[in-house]
Amino acid sequence: MADYPPTVRELLAAMRELPSIGPRSAERLVLFLLEETKGTKERLARLLQAAGTRVHPCTRCGFYAEEELCELCRDPVRDPLLWCVVASPGDVLRIERASAFRGIYHVLGRKLSPLDGVGPEEIPTGLLLARIEREHPREIILALGTDAEGEATALYLGQILKKTGSRISSLATGLPAGGGLEFADSVTLSYALAGRREL
Ligand SMILES: [Zn+2]
Repeated sequence: MADYPPTVRELLAAMRELPSIGPRSAERLVLFLLEETKGTKERLARLLQAAGTRVHPCTRCGFYAEEELCELCRDPVRDPLLWCVVASPGDVLRIERASAFRGIYHVLGRKLSPLDGVGPEEIPTGLLLARIEREHPREIILALGTDAEGEATALYLGQILKKTGSRISSLATGLPAGGGLEFADSVTLSYALAGRREL
């Protein structure tokens, strides 16, 4: 049975490794790229290569950066003593879009999830504690979502961080129950930030 040439087959297989891309979407995207003449595939190839080599986690907060520090950490207008701890780099942008936070971030990278084998020892608290020791934040807001993993992680971190002397708060107020930050709109997020409660 006839099939696409080897390179196209490999490209289809690679596309299918992306989230939310099934066999049909992969085929549609690959055929589009093969036929387009506006230079999209050349630009994509160049940018994917650059993203792989140039983009890395900010050495201070863990958000995406192309220099040692990310743009948020280099912004002199932000309050460096007000922190927001989030689970993923995407959550940083969700809070930024709510335009209600002028501090800086700490990207934890993971949430507690005993069912998936992510226990307390897998949560990189050492990096966070070392950073707190260096920078002495005034307040740390835990914005880890209202799903079971987020709540458990906030509870666990709250216990550990209480000993640091910083004020620890959580932004659970008003967020949709049972979800990560991706389920909250900007208005809800800004209310949740304003109405944060101390732990
Ligand atoms: Zn940063």
